[in-house]
Amino acid sequence: DLLVVGSANADLVVGVDRRPAPGETVLGSDLAVHPGGKGANQAVAAARLGARTALLARVGDDAHGRLLLESQRSAGVDTTGVLVGGAPTGVALITVDPSGDNSIVVSPGANARLTPEDIRAAGPLLSASRVVSVQLEIPLDTVAETARALPSGTRLVLNPSPPAPLPAGVLAACDPLVVNEHEARSILGRDAGTTPESWAQALTALGPRSVVITLGAGGALAADTRTGDFVRVPSPAVDAVDTTGAGDAFTAALAWRLGLGEELPEAAAFAVRVGAAAVTKEGAQASFPTAEEVSAL
Ligand code: ADP
Repeated sequence: DLLVVGSANADLVVGVDRRPAPGETVLGSDLAVHPGGKGANQAVAAARLGARTALLARVGDDAHGRLLLESQRSAGVDTTGVLVGGAPTGVALITVDPSGDNSIVVSPGANARLTPEDIRAAGPLLSASRVVSVQLEIPLDTVAETARALPSGTRLVLNPSPPAPLPAGVLAACDPLVVNEHEARSILGRDAGTTPESWAQALTALGPRSVVITLGAGGALAADTRTGDFVRVPSPAVDAVDTTGAGDAFTAALAWRLGLGEELPEAAAFAVRVGAAAVTKEGAQASFPTAEEVSAL
């Protein structure tokens, strides 16, 4: 089974002709409210593919929290690990201008109150999981506790987004560390080289057991630190409509297939198809494919 430990946000989206200047008010379109947050997205993506999936997250005791729980349940996610209360549900306040550019304010809310104690109290969920997938929209201490609390034989998949310096103990547990090009550059800084292979080399030197770099339409690069093998996995060519959530869909698919016992290149080859399917539709969770849609690609 797959356990996702991470964030759940309500995305509040308004279209505007232009952004307000300081002190100014502008009128926007009708409000659209979408379930989001990287943890919630990954859990829905995996469950929609048919994975037995649980989410460990925190939401507020409010309407946004109920929306998030409902979207998880209707996708088939086990929500017994979703904690309620302590702060308002996390929200992303998103304005979109006519050119499609976003301005986003995130209020982490309850996500910032998912604590290491919450992880310790979730021992049974952790023990029931072959793979645990985490991101960085929850406190770093909580991510570190998740890495520490992993039962032996349970694999950790980490997408360090938004990018932040990672403790050595967390890095050493990653199998794989999953990054896009932006996250790779941000973690490596200036002297990372220019090719995905050079990034993979530099990232493996940081200590994870394996590394996967997603390359948008270019697919992904899988690097196994133990064997030193680099494998480029091309993405199927698709008409990209909206890439929101593609990385979350990719990582969820990868984590699920690794849990089924597939090797890294094999799991990555499936995950690029899931990511490619996700960019053919608008939205994040709304764009995630079923297994049938992936085979039809
Ligand atoms: P993120 O969404 O985190 O920025 P990427 O852009 O690398 O990450 O996308 C993740 C995965 O989604 C890619 O590895 C690929 O499988 C798929 N994908 C993204 N953009 C495209 C595209 N334009 N065409 C085909 N597949 C894509």
